[in-house]
Amino acid sequence: MRWFAFILSVTLTGLASLSGCMPVPPTPSPESQVAPSPQPQQAKRTPTTPGEREIAQLPTLQGGAEYWVRKPRPVSNDILQKRYPNIFALAGPSHKNQVALTFDDGPDSKFTPQVLDVLKKHNVPATFFVVGARARALPEVTRRMENENHVIGNHTYWHPNLPKESMERMDWEVRETERAIRTITGKRTTLFRAPYGELAPERVERLGDMGYSVIGWSVDSLDWRQLPTEEIINNVLSNTHPGSIILFHSGGHWTQDLSTMVEALDRIIPRLKADGIRFVTVPELLRR
Ligand SMILES: [Zn+2]
Repeated sequence: MRWFAFILSVTLTGLASLSGCMPVPPTPSPESQVAPSPQPQQAKRTPTTPGEREIAQLPTLQGGAEYWVRKPRPVSNDILQKRYPNIFALAGPSHKNQVALTFDDGPDSKFTPQVLDVLKKHNVPATFFVVGARARALPEVTRRMENENHVIGNHTYWHPNLPKESMERMDWEVRETERAIRTITGKRTTLFRAPYGELAPERVERLGDMGYSVIGWSVDSLDWRQLPTEEIINNVLSNTHPGSIILFHSGGHWTQDLSTMVEALDRIIPRLKADGIRFVTVPELLRR
């Protein structure tokens, strides 16, 4: 029964925007079929505005939106980074005055284009960790990232909470997203970021064997909490250092309003530029 419910929900969430054959992951684990809990009250209402309805039609983040699943675990990621320094990066070298802006959970049809507009306005590149099912649903937004000289990384196909899934499922999530990105952009990505930043040693080793660099972050804007613009600006500016990898989100659950993030981004970039910071993509930041 749970199996059926899982397949049904995956199919229904993707159906609105995907046509043709639906990629379904192999052998979902029992945990992955349980709805994320607790869900915030606002997620239980139905979308009302045209904008909400449009985003609600996108493939959903299967493990749940960041704001009700993610538990920041900087220490565990720090331990993993020290154990696998050649696979796992949390920041770049500190001797150059440069940082990388990164955006997870897109593309979407509302906030990702706004982020791209702000980046274009300030002429800075960024790195987008895309959800494979969403990239397939919105190939034109994904192509725009590529055409505007941003770098695209892999953020799984359905955004499950990986430590709860089998290794076989993780392999599928990574490869299916890789295929989606290659079909849309013609390029293979070698950058991976885990949903919710949740990983474990054997996962990092496996991703390394698959040819991936695992990318974390050293500065969290906490934009996924829908904070006021000033708080997001403060979170970023008070923690940024040379070599920072800065975490934002260019998509999320349809109930999430990321407009304060867009406003904050528009003000953060000139402030850091004034301090002599150069904006680069993640591969450029990690180049020694
Ligand atoms: Zn994510």
